Amino acid sequence: MSLSRRDFLAASAVTLGAFLARPLDVLASQQPVFTPIRRNVGTFTMRGGTVGWLVNPRGVAVVDTQFSAEARVLLAGLRERSRNRGVDVLLNTHHHGDHTAGNGVFRGVTRRVVAHGMADQHMRRPPQPPQQAQQAQQPAAQQQATQPPAPQPLYPDTTFTHIWSTGVGDERIVARHHGRGHTSGDAVITFERANVVHMGDLAFHRRHPVVDRAAGASMRNWARQLEQVVNAHARDTIYIFGHAREGLPVTGSGAELLQFRDYLGAVLAFVERHVAAGRSREEILAMRAPLPGFEAWGPFGQAGPRDPISVAYEEVTTGA
Ligand SMILES: [Zn+2]
Repeated sequence: MSLSRRDFLAASAVTLGAFLARPLDVLASQQPVFTPIRRNVGTFTMRGGTVGWLVNPRGVAVVDTQFSAEARVLLAGLRERSRNRGVDVLLNTHHHGDHTAGNGVFRGVTRRVVAHGMADQHMRRPPQPPQQAQQAQQPAAQQQATQPPAPQPLYPDTTFTHIWSTGVGDERIVARHHGRGHTSGDAVITFERANVVHMGDLAFHRRHPVVDRAAGASMRNWARQLEQVVNAHARDTIYIFGHAREGLPVTGSGAELLQFRDYLGAVLAFVERHVAAGRSREEILAMRAPLPGFEAWGPFGQAGPRDPISVAYEEVTTGA
């Protein structure tokens, strides 16, 4: 089937409308944007989870890789900025496809790939994360028909349990795991001298998060660790968010993280209240209106295994 450009744009607009209500920006490929933040650290956005990068005179590091087409654009930009240096280290914040499907583009380019041990296990476990299945159905895939085939996946060669760190030129990079959150294998990655922290999908900027309970997520511990992270960093630390509501920045301060902690607590309290009032699972999962006090987040998307209300219901009723 061939689409005229006009039909394609119309189809894209419909898809975009659907996408705005979706938790992950996997549908529409945007213009690539490299944004320097501070002291050689910056972000790259195109499609999928926000990428972090470090390019200094002595080395290159990258945090997450989006999808393979986007990873090629990312790598070209990094080469340009680093005068064709290789990559010293690729870190993954967690296993989801919109953060790791581009890893294969870095095969033979990066000296090492680092992730939490559980992220590594999740990455290697079939079936593929649902985002990758979605990717196959989207219009962007048609655009990619002329692109080279996706490379073989590239998995971590270095894993850690609590903390891992390395030097890249004059920068110190520290990856920490604070227990269950968005998944069971999330890493918070601090560029110490730049004072910039990549939160991966532990931070959704004013939008309903994906909560991957099947991969070990815990909303209760997620809220706790956001506070731990803010307490462990300086007041002027800049945080990189995995995803942001359309039109909002993908970076911000600890205040946004604490607001997100409050949101997670409010979803749990909301569900707890309705469980205590004797409402059924069906009644509670059907509550999709914006959460009181968090109207800016908009209505909840469809109920499903990774939706905050559904997961909060499981956590509240099973106690785990
Ligand atoms: Zn994720």
